This record gives sequence, C-alpha cells and structure tokens, in this order.
Amino acid sequence: MMEVSEKQLTQPGCSQRQVILPGSTIGILGGGQLGRMMSLAGRAMGYRFVTLDPVTDAPCGQVADEQIVAAYDDLIAAQQLADQSDVITYEFENVDAGVTELLMKQSYVPQGSQLLFTTQHRLREKRAIEAAGVKVAPYLEIDSEEKLREGVRAFGTPCVLKTATGGYDGKGQWVIRSLDEVTDAYNTLSQAKTELVLEKFIHFDKELSVIAARSPRGEVKAFPAAENVHVDNILHVSIVPARVSNELQRRAEQLAIQIAKGLDVIGLIAVEMFVTSDGEIYVNELAPRPHNSGHYTMEACHTSQFEQHVRAICNLPLGPTELLTPAVMVNLLGEHMEPLMNWMEQEEGLPTDVTPKIHLYGKHEAKVKRKMGHVNLLTKDVEKALKWIEDSSIWKNM
Ligand code: AMP
Repeated sequence: MMEVSEKQLTQPGCSQRQVILPGSTIGILGGGQLGRMMSLAGRAMGYRFVTLDPVTDAPCGQVADEQIVAAYDDLIAAQQLADQSDVITYEFENVDAGVTELLMKQSYVPQGSQLLFTTQHRLREKRAIEAAGVKVAPYLEIDSEEKLREGVRAFGTPCVLKTATGGYDGKGQWVIRSLDEVTDAYNTLSQAKTELVLEKFIHFDKELSVIAARSPRGEVKAFPAAENVHVDNILHVSIVPARVSNELQRRAEQLAIQIAKGLDVIGLIAVEMFVTSDGEIYVNELAPRPHNSGHYTMEACHTSQFEQHVRAICNLPLGPTELLTPAVMVNLLGEHMEPLMNWMEQEEGLPTDVTPKIHLYGKHEAKVKRKMGHVNLLTKDVEKALKWIEDSSIWKNM
C-alpha cells in the first residue's frame, strides 16, 4: 500500500472543533475487530456506522449499519464512504495515500493525515517521539551494508535491524547476534525496498503500553499502563496494573500524554515502551488507533478505549479512565478456538474470584496465529489469573 505523501499532510481538525452528536454516522476505514468493538461501543451511544472492507461479512461489517465491500485503495468506494459519513476514522495505520487525500477533501477526518504519515514510518516516528521530548532506543538509519556493519560494531550485539515501513508482529525484523549475520540481514530486509533502521538492543525488564486519548477541544487522558507479554512476537497477555512501581506507572502514563500533545493527536494513540531494571523508559512504537493491549479497558475501566476513541473524534468530553478492577487480558488465536469452545460449555477449573469476559470477533476461519478474540479476566489477584491461563487447556501450546 502507498504511503501518505508529504504534500497531502493536514493537521488534525482542531480548527473545526465541531461536535458530532449521537445519531450521526461514523465511517470506519477497515472492517476488522478494532472497528467492530468501536462500532459496538458507539452504537450503545446512539451513533450509526458504515465500514469499508474488502472481505464480505467482516468483523466490523457484522455489527455496523452497513459495509461497503471494496479494496482499501478503491477511490470510488472511499467516495461512497465519505458521502455516507459525518466523520471518518480508521482502524489501521497503513491507509492508502489516494484514499487519505480524497477523504480529507470530501469528508471530515478529525485525526488528520499528519499522524498517519508519521506513524507509517519508523524513522519519522522516532524523530517525532524525540521532538516531543521522549526517549527512544538509540538508532541509526541504514542505507548500505557497510553502514550496517559499522552500526553493529558501534551498538554491539545483539542489535535489531528493522524495515522502516510495513512491519508488524515482529515481521520485517532481524535480531543480529553476530557480525557474521550482517550480509544476510541486510540482503533479506532490503528486499522490502524501504529504508532500514538499526536499533540498539534494550535489555528490558518489562514491556508496557499506555493508550492516551486527545480531543479537538484539547482534553487529554491516559488509561492505566498495561504490562504486556508477547509469545512469538504476538501479544499473549496484558496485565493491569502493570507490575512496576506506582512511580513508573505514572511516568509511563505521563509520557503517553506528552506524546499525544506533542504529536497533536486526535483520537487514540497507543504507546509501546520498554522499561529497564534501572527505571529507564524507551518508547518503541506508536499506533494511532485502539490497540490490542487496551482491550482490558472494556470491563476493567469506567470507559473503554473504544468509547474513548468515539468520544475523542466526535469532540465529546472524554470519559474517566480509572481502573475499576485489576485484570488480565489474554488473546485467543485460531489454535485456541477449539479448546475454548469445549471449555465454554462448563467453564471448569476457574478460580471463584476470577471472572472471565469473553469477546469473539466473528471471524469465519480460525487460522493458526490469527487473532480470533480475547478474554478479560477480572480479578483482585492477577497472579491467580495468570496461573489459570498457564494451566488451562486453552493455551496449553504457548
Ligand atoms: P516491534 O515490531 O518494534 O513492536 O517489535 C516487536 C518486539 O520485538 C517487541 O515487542 C520487543 O519484544 C522486541 N524488540 C523490538 N525492538 C527491540 C529492541 N530495540 N530491543 C529489544 N527488543 C526489541
């Protein structure tokens, strides 16, 4: 997919400051689970939804008032989305340049295109985070094998080579463990035909994420920091409150707010961070949308991330973000569906003080590693919930 080009950039719609009231139609580019949960939250508030996605009966299409079935870069379909919507948002960041341009001209896109332009590219994103006064892991732009070799010498091994665009869930990355790997790593990742970035390896103690929301009226709020555990580069569990000091939690939340303000965010921004044992925080990545690590908010917070996103783009007052209960969110991938279904008939073995809230996304095919749903385990004792996940037949192959 093409990127947004620099000449098309527009600032978010702060100048418009318009309030989009319930009864209005929200258009969502993308029909996946994030759009689905956004629509479910927004429908409870009285909004209508239209989504655009190439796959018929997409997760969001099943709950929206209407789905336009077309490719994400189909300009005629984008025009139709613009015609039917009072406000437009997106549920993924690699939005096609032509579509962005059309939607910005023909409709109201309060999030603007600047944030997409920034977060579509790791180097631009890192520079923007630094400009907001927040630390990232030391990095170098790589445009030749020689430069990579010098970089690996300077950072030491291991270090991480990443493509600037297109990577997700660990794709487009190479952890370089010795100088012998430089040629292979360079040749492999340069096939992506995008810039490369080399990062110093951060020996982190924990990975945290914070989701912040900002509205055109300038209100900013952060959700409590989540502690994330990945398996095979895919998020497995999020634990809230994160098991770090209160001071670190507050600092992480403050950094997300600083980034939301510094980058003129409208809507949500998910900020992924590494925390080291000596209390340093490095921001790894941003996502300008609801995030998997914020799914716990659906039952564990006064306001869910999805309701907050709707509130922010519609310029309503933001909802309170305080935690109602500690929680563990655990993802359900394709391979977990069959044991889950067996378990759901009895819900056996669950500790009495752990309450599961199951969310399934309505995807037709349970492919291995595909995100099919998640469970929010509400509990006063997150260790008990984590132990149950570890022992459960549902996630036995993790
Ligand atoms: P990313 O695609 O940047 O989100 O990276 C995926 C995962 O790789 C992260 O969640 C980390 O666990 C790991 N990772 C990425 N960059 C680094 C780094 N500079 N140092 C250590 N681990 C990293």
